[in-house]
Amino acid sequence: MGKNKNSKAGQALKTNPCEKYELAITNYVLGEKIDIPQKELFDHLAQCPSCQGDLRNWRATYATMRAREYAGRPEVQQRTQAFIHKLVTGPVHGEPLQPVIDTERIVGLATGEIYNCLKKNGPLSLSLIRKNTGLEGYPFYEAMGWLNQEKKIIVRGKNDQPEYAELQP
Ligand SMILES: [Zn+2]
Repeated sequence: MGKNKNSKAGQALKTNPCEKYELAITNYVLGEKIDIPQKELFDHLAQCPSCQGDLRNWRATYATMRAREYAGRPEVQQRTQAFIHKLVTGPVHGEPLQPVIDTERIVGLATGEIYNCLKKNGPLSLSLIRKNTGLEGYPFYEAMGWLNQEKKIIVRGKNDQPEYAELQP
């Protein structure tokens, strides 16, 4: 706590006159009930730079505390993470949009290639289908999914892991 720099008030009260306002100031900042009339506190603040400083410090401390508490909440952290993820992975602002891809055509072509490959070779492992058709990633798995869903192929494997495929007889 600082000393009252107002000489008049300092003479009137021999002890530190600000002492009685310490708690009132912290309670006021915290939004809690103050134990002296609010007018008395404000009148003192109006003429006491030391207590004005205390009030500012307490406000800053409280604001920092609240900000930390807010940032620490799980939902806020989640939002922050999501926002950062978007910033890091999203398209760069101002970058031209990439061309639209005709996924139907891409998957359609892959489907035909896999079908012909199995027709020509009989049952094959998935890795051999990829090797023979040159397909991988998105078009390969989408086409396999479509062929399976349309009952064009049978997929075999252990523990639900697809390993081999063949055409439906
Ligand atoms: Zn004071």
